[in-house]
Amino acid sequence: MSAPKIAVEVDIAIVGGGLVGASLAIALQPCGLRMALIESVSAEATGQPSFDDRTTALGNSSRRIFEALDVWPLISGQAAPIKNIHVSDAGRFGFARLSAAEQGIDSFGYVVTNRVLGQALRTRLGALKDIDLRMPSSCTHIAISESQVEIHTEPSALPIRAKLVIAADGSRSQVRSAAGLSAEVEDYQQVAVIAHVAATRSSDGTAYERFTSEGPFAVLPLHNGCYGVVWTLPPSAAELLMAASDAEYLAQLQRQFGWRIGRFLRVGQRNAYPLQLTRATKTIGPRVALIGNAAQALHPVAGQGFNLGLRDAATLAEVLSVLPAGADVGASAVLADFSARRMIDRDGITRFTDGLVKLFSEQRLGVPLLRDMGLLMFDLSPTAKQALSKLSWGFARHTPRLARGLNLIL
Ligand SMILES: Cc1cc2nc3c(=O)[nH]c(=O)nc-3n(C[C@H](O)[C@H](O)[C@H](O)COP(=O)(O)OP(=O)(O)OC[C@H]3O[C@@H](n4cnc5c(N)ncnc54)[C@H](O)[C@@H]3O)c2cc1C
Repeated sequence: MSAPKIAVEVDIAIVGGGLVGASLAIALQPCGLRMALIESVSAEATGQPSFDDRTTALGNSSRRIFEALDVWPLISGQAAPIKNIHVSDAGRFGFARLSAAEQGIDSFGYVVTNRVLGQALRTRLGALKDIDLRMPSSCTHIAISESQVEIHTEPSALPIRAKLVIAADGSRSQVRSAAGLSAEVEDYQQVAVIAHVAATRSSDGTAYERFTSEGPFAVLPLHNGCYGVVWTLPPSAAELLMAASDAEYLAQLQRQFGWRIGRFLRVGQRNAYPLQLTRATKTIGPRVALIGNAAQALHPVAGQGFNLGLRDAATLAEVLSVLPAGADVGASAVLADFSARRMIDRDGITRFTDGLVKLFSEQRLGVPLLRDMGLLMFDLSPTAKQALSKLSWGFARHTPRLARGLNLIL
């Protein structure tokens, strides 16, 4: 493709304005950089893949980051605090309970629907200055050279020339491929069927996580007293659950979960998400940085994927914020700094999440018994509980300033 003579010149182009890409653009605002954000789906579209009916459990680090970005006031009224966590091995004796009060914290995190999060982020995006907001517009072609990246978009006419391109375009990242960065993909052979449900007992801030032989199953509190259900199943069983009538779904849910929160009364729209672990082998390349699902897409079992992606965005913003005016934002030393700062958190959370899925789906003789003993021991161990409750801050070392409640700019 021959390079057109005229292009929009920016410092940073973000491809993907989903939860993580939009958060990065907002975080970068105080840095005074010229930015472009390209997102293929319009804010209002019902099919926006990042801002749908899923619920996201925001950890405490994410709350801090959203407070600093002034996003939190737009979502706090619709965020349900997680006061207690109840973990069990379905049909067996192992269980563990965690209480935020016992850990001396307000909550382990907050459950918000992605649609609410998306709306808040789009509101803040709309108020940004010095940004070429292309939405809806798709990135169609990227050419990376030593000194710049040229990004072509449809339907916008002029290409964008940037010093740095950020891949925030999800697990099948086109930018990642264009940069020649490979990703390892492991299919869990599980599908998450999500839905909002109402029960006779309103939610009291308890999040239930049950491990079944077919996959994990979570019932999360919502701000309106209802619940968000994330039901993980093998693909064929998920297909049947998606096709079931509302009455059949509710009856199956009752059998699966029991009567702990009373009778299930109503269910909203169901959506299905096939689950894979996608992990880019490197998160940087020449003039490219990967964040969010483009860098790593995790199983939702521990509710960590977005939290991790948001810390990617907060860290990248911090690394860029300390550069002197006019510095090359895409220089390899800058990107190496970002990648090194993210390594421990990224590896730790990915291994933890993947290990949890595998440990609890293991049915070999003796393993379920050991697992139950482990859960009961955990239930009796304040030290183990304290360690797990710290997960909502991410794996320590290089915690970004925003996640520590500090301003981006010193
Ligand atoms: C069932 C389920 C439950 C989950 N629960 C939690 C939870 O409780 N807590 C948690 O932390 N995480 C959770 N996650 C993970 C979380 O949803 C993801 O980590 C998060 O959505 C990643 O956001 P992202 O912006 O990186 O990617 P995406 O959400 O995939 O967004 C990518 C964006 O890029 C755009 N795009 C793609 N290609 C192009 C292109 N060529 N040009 C322009 N735009 C493009 C897309 O339109 C999209 O808006 C869950 C995931 C699932 C499946």
